[in-house]
Amino acid sequence: MATITWDSKLAAVAGPKSSKIEKAFGFRTVGDLLRHYPRRYVEKGKLSDPSGFTLDEHVTIIARVISSKQIPYQDRRRGGMAYRLEVVLETTGDELVLTFFDKKKHVADWRAKSIVAGATGLFSGKLGRFRDRWQLTNPQNKVYSSETMESGVDQAYAAWESLPNLLTIYPATSTVQTWQLQEAIELALDLVDAVPDPIPPAVRLQHGLISARQAIEWIHKPDSWEAKAAAEKRLRFEEAFVTQTVLARRRAAVTALDAEPRTGTTGGLLDRFDERLPFALTGGQVEVGEQILADLTAGHPMHRLLQGEVGSGKTVVALRAMLRVVDSGGQAALLAPTEVLAQQHHRSITAMLGDLAAGGMLGGAEGGTQVALLTGSLGAAARKAALLDTASGAAGIVVGTHALLEEKVQFADLGLVVVDEQHRFGVEQRAALSAKAGEVPPHVLVMTATPIPRTVAMTVFGDLETSTLSELPAGRAPIQTSVVPMLERPDWLDRAWTRVREEAAKGHQTYIVCPRIGGAPNSRLDNEEPDDPDESDAPGRGSSGVDLAGVEEIAPALAAGALHGLRVEALHGRMPPERKDEVMRSFAEGEVDVLVATTVIEVGVDVANATVMVVLDADRFGVSQLHQLRGRVGRGGLPGLCLLVTRSDPESAARARLTAVAATSDGFELSRVDLEQRREGDVLGAAQSGRRSGLKLLSVIKHEDVIAEAREAATAFVAKDPDLASVPDLAAAVRRIDESEQGDYLEKA
Ligand code: ADP
Ligand code: MG
Repeated sequence: MATITWDSKLAAVAGPKSSKIEKAFGFRTVGDLLRHYPRRYVEKGKLSDPSGFTLDEHVTIIARVISSKQIPYQDRRRGGMAYRLEVVLETTGDELVLTFFDKKKHVADWRAKSIVAGATGLFSGKLGRFRDRWQLTNPQNKVYSSETMESGVDQAYAAWESLPNLLTIYPATSTVQTWQLQEAIELALDLVDAVPDPIPPAVRLQHGLISARQAIEWIHKPDSWEAKAAAEKRLRFEEAFVTQTVLARRRAAVTALDAEPRTGTTGGLLDRFDERLPFALTGGQVEVGEQILADLTAGHPMHRLLQGEVGSGKTVVALRAMLRVVDSGGQAALLAPTEVLAQQHHRSITAMLGDLAAGGMLGGAEGGTQVALLTGSLGAAARKAALLDTASGAAGIVVGTHALLEEKVQFADLGLVVVDEQHRFGVEQRAALSAKAGEVPPHVLVMTATPIPRTVAMTVFGDLETSTLSELPAGRAPIQTSVVPMLERPDWLDRAWTRVREEAAKGHQTYIVCPRIGGAPNSRLDNEEPDDPDESDAPGRGSSGVDLAGVEEIAPALAAGALHGLRVEALHGRMPPERKDEVMRSFAEGEVDVLVATTVIEVGVDVANATVMVVLDADRFGVSQLHQLRGRVGRGGLPGLCLLVTRSDPESAARARLTAVAATSDGFELSRVDLEQRREGDVLGAAQSGRRSGLKLLSVIKHEDVIAEAREAATAFVAKDPDLASVPDLAAAVRRIDESEQGDYLEKA
């Protein structure tokens, strides 16, 4: 018999069952099967406690049979005799009954003999309720008992005695039962010759971890809770360590690349910009700025994530980096997630630079540069001009949306890529833009205002160095946030409109945010702008079945009603770009009192004079989205007010989310709330979650410490052995992840 290895085909241990198992779980090898860890462990002596049961739940329970009775009856529907077996199980609470129906006498008799009083078994099925008792009808079962009535009880006990103390229950499906998996896994454990061990021995020792073989055995067949815990600890660390090795190698690879050092010039654009800055930089801005300038001169590509609270002034930091690159003869690209934001960046950068941005033009400063705007909806002439300025290098700074990624866009010398609001861009887009720099990779600065918890930063963005701007510029007024609960306090909405009028009387402005564009009832979401894939994904109808607020209905209704006399404008993604630009411009210039908009204004929009934000159907938005939205007010030293209007149930999770947003303005705290409500896969993205990466025991939500330790260990190990030559199992595991991500990338391309 050939030896069975980790990579042997599943059939070697699962026999004819293997195709069913492969279909249900996608396992192909013995290794895949052994990486299918139990979902639950049940102590043998412990009886099932039905108090936690819920109707229609699929349960697998272990229990002893108290009584078993066969009842023959007339099957009226199909004619002839049929047999019902009623089995009562021993539990600690409510009674639990199994009912089996059989048509054939010999099957019914065989069943009655195997499920006898005193036998113990595993039973699995959907919970029903019948005459005040829990019931499983025709459950899947495995009984530790013999075929013959006489010796059945004794043998059942004997079989039961020989079972391990901790019984394992596997994630199963309707076609593959937990004990079928158990049998195959048990055989695999006996036969497999070696278990790959990607953790270097020294690291194992240092972290007190058991061997891979021991861990795989104990995760499937622990003889105590301690053994199970030791196995989990080891396997969890392994998952973190392999992932962190992948990331450490990517960081090392970037460090090994050469990049053009961008050293700038004394008296260049950066120096002149700093001189005319109307405010003092915050301590954080200075510190991060120095870090970035050092990165830019280092001779290998910068890959830095800049995270900072909404309004912490990331744009200035980025602009200073861009100017340094322009001073060094290169160009910088700023990639924004939406058209509105790209336009605004273009406007504000041009304004901040003043005559420095009018290079080569009449009235422009000597040595100045140009700022080009490239979006998907430019007219042909404007687009051609922007493309030309980009290709010739006349534009030192190019601001744009996804349109910047198109093939036709060419740079003379792209030295820096800045990605604003990273959560909307994938790694691939970053890579596509970097590729435009040609042979020499550009420096990359990624900015996000959605604070990223440390664990996520260490995994999802693990190939980037991280900087954080935690302080807000001086003079920022706090934003007060309140929930306006329409079910309990419908009158509060009128008070909200009164507040809007009062602010308008003081010359201040208001945003009103709706989850929908409007138009035909409940049909049109604001997601039709090509540059704005995420602009809104709220379904048209609230869970309560009421129509959600739409910009196209709310704006005219308010203008004619509660806000009569105020200047109200609408803004959403389906308006023509020129019109959007015009509306934003007039709002920024104070010609509009109230802007009724979709989430087009979610990120980055910066109008200092806006003091109030009213979010309608606020429960339709996520935690970080609401935090982003309210960051649009209170930016100009005037106190901000944010009202979250909701028709949600006071007891609902949606309401709890709103209360959390109202309770704190700390973005990091909120990102934790957000994280807790999301599932692992949503956080990590497809490539890093689920089957492919093999993250099974490790949770970025729960295991911050493990990730941090593994990161440190992996970084140190990669520094010593960059090719992982001393640990072939690690090299293989890393290669698998790299290849599967490559695969994901190719699939999408
Ligand atoms: P965000 O980090 O959310 O992108 P911005 O870069 O848009 O924030 O900055 C928000 C506002 O704060 C802008 O109007 C900007 O000009 C202003 N700002 C930035 N830095 C400072 C500072 N050090 N002092 C005062 N205002 C600042
Ligand atoms: Mg910003």
